[in-house]
Amino acid sequence: MSNSANTEKKIILTGDRPTGSLHLGHYVGSLRKRVELQNTGEYDQFVMIADLQALTDNADNPGKIRDNILEVTLDYLAAGLEPDKTTIFVQSHVPALTELPMFYSNLVTVSRLERNPTVKAEIKMRNFERSLPVGFMTYPISQAADITAFKARYVPVGDDQLPMIEQTREIVSNFNRIYGEGILVEPEAILSSNSACKRLVGTDGNAKMSKSLGNCIYLKDDAKTLKQKIMSMYTDPLHINVSDPGHTENNPVFIYLEAFSTDDDFANFMPDYKNLAEMKEHYERGGLGDMKCKKFLNSVMQQMLEPIRQRREEYAKDKGALLEMLKKGTERAVEVSNETLAQVRNAIGINYFDDKTFLDKYI
Ligand code: ATP
Ligand code: MG
Repeated sequence: MSNSANTEKKIILTGDRPTGSLHLGHYVGSLRKRVELQNTGEYDQFVMIADLQALTDNADNPGKIRDNILEVTLDYLAAGLEPDKTTIFVQSHVPALTELPMFYSNLVTVSRLERNPTVKAEIKMRNFERSLPVGFMTYPISQAADITAFKARYVPVGDDQLPMIEQTREIVSNFNRIYGEGILVEPEAILSSNSACKRLVGTDGNAKMSKSLGNCIYLKDDAKTLKQKIMSMYTDPLHINVSDPGHTENNPVFIYLEAFSTDDDFANFMPDYKNLAEMKEHYERGGLGDMKCKKFLNSVMQQMLEPIRQRREEYAKDKGALLEMLKKGTERAVEVSNETLAQVRNAIGINYFDDKTFLDKYI
């Protein structure tokens, strides 16, 4: 892979905060798509370990972030990202990503930041009230820098990220209006077409599976842990006896089946039904127990996660090679983003020492 961005290919940028191992929400919301896009060969894909963003609400606990850099890297490779096809890099080692936000922050109002619904919900969840770090409030600006530094047009994400993409588009449009077109690219989100995957619920039925909520199934969970988590999942509280009619809406077991099961899984593990629609119909009518549904879900998930677990184990044997790979990816990210940064500085006109028309005036 060459060091400059491969502009003949469509460019992708995404990332994850290294605040813990990656879970099924990451997988269906974004990671699975990244692997798919990588394997088409049509994209130049950058995947970022967002340690600077993770620090915005973990400034007092940097050890957690440090410990999770390789964990997230392992999850990436286990899920199927390949370093010779996808550039994996560490955010904090790419200087352009700390310089660009300085320029962009002048193009965003405080009231616009305060209206960001995802940030609002996250502030509430973290009980920040009067202790809200400035860095956390402004992380959407930093995210705009991450995306635009690589001129990414596509950002595969879960739907919680839509306000960030919108904010990025606004920054690009303001930048273009003031400093000229042709440098920054307005990105668009790539969302899963499966609505259960756009924002995967937690095992407790909470609206989002999230590291911070402790309601996750992790990609690295072993077979026993996975089974245990599935068997103790929240279901329909009104479905007490097997014969009772059940509800499949807002029932995480059925939401996960929606996200993960295929008709082949029915043929292999649950031949009583041809597909999920038939199974749902029986549950809603009454007569299908939660245990049977959970056992089926367990078979589906074990089959999906087993190869991921195996790859993870293989890659974990050589941590030195992982670090080397991250270093190489980061070097490429630095070069590509520095090109954009130089163009941005030129467009703003603060390139005093290498702008001939400026120098000619004085020398
Ligand atoms: P944290 O709790 O530290 O914010 P998180 O679990 O929300 O962590 P992020 O690192 O913030 O994870 O998100 C990384 C990517 O994964 C984003 O694209 C996000 O949209 C996607 N994602 C995270 N959780 C889910 C989910 N439950 N469903 C779908 N996509 C998700
Ligand atoms: Mg998050």
